[in-house]
Amino acid sequence: MRENIKNCKKIVVKIGSSSITHKETGGADLIRLEKLVRELTDLHSAGHDVILVSSGAISVGVKAANIKDIYYDGRSKSEGEGPDEKLKIKQACAAIGQARLMMIYQKLFSEYNQLTAQVLMTKRTVVDDLNRFNAKNTFDELMNLGVIPVVNENDTLSTYEIEFGDNDTLSAIVAAITEADLLILLSDIDGLYTDDPKRNPKAEFISEIGHLGKTVEGYAKDSVGSMVGTGGMSTKISAAKIASAAGVEMVIANAEDLGNIHRIVSGEEIGTYIHACRDKDFFIGDHLKDD
Ligand code: GLU
Repeated sequence: MRENIKNCKKIVVKIGSSSITHKETGGADLIRLEKLVRELTDLHSAGHDVILVSSGAISVGVKAANIKDIYYDGRSKSEGEGPDEKLKIKQACAAIGQARLMMIYQKLFSEYNQLTAQVLMTKRTVVDDLNRFNAKNTFDELMNLGVIPVVNENDTLSTYEIEFGDNDTLSAIVAAITEADLLILLSDIDGLYTDDPKRNPKAEFISEIGHLGKTVEGYAKDSVGSMVGTGGMSTKISAAKIASAAGVEMVIANAEDLGNIHRIVSGEEIGTYIHACRDKDFFIGDHLKDD
């Protein structure tokens, strides 16, 4: 059993787009969302403070607006060239999808009489000292009020976030700001392997990492990332670096079975457990890419 994890009170759970939307259409997977909400509400009623970092806005918006061909590879055009057409559409889809996603979360949480709230963040929320201070205070108050906040990037406004950001990193930042005890990063893979298991059958599963060194970074393979999300394994390692330095325990686990959430919290050996190694000089700004 993982004794450290059993004592964690404040828990951030991150779920990716591919885990809560239908692969074929991109629309919201209501059955999985219902299970997720039940798991989180149960954690809350067991006495935990719970924060959800949920992707899915763009995917759900693309489906709702019936947009085709949104997945582009490049960045937006450079300054002076005018707005990138696909980026504009993507941002509009994020606006549509975030509202729809939140409506679904509200409805599902209310079935259990559980309060929820929406918190949309940009990188500036974190870089700016006053914004970050305000964000922390808001999260603290939401915890006091017994709310389970649903957090996402503000994809509609922050071009930069859409192009470079990912919710793996965001979830680690949220865990750091809120001084969470545990970050559960749910993915479409069981955890961390020594190589990409989809390509290398000899790849070995790693159930525990005491210290994130260069060897571990070498294991990360971007190819594992799915079409609708932005994160592969390397974003999970970056998230782990932030979480660990901020003193947050972290587990990367498979979202396939959402019952993994309560199993992880009760100390079962599921996924890859990355121990917190608090850096006494930890400063969040050091972990964000430059504008
Ligand atoms: N924020 C994006 C969305 O809600 C997803 C980002 C990510 O997958 O990491 O669609």
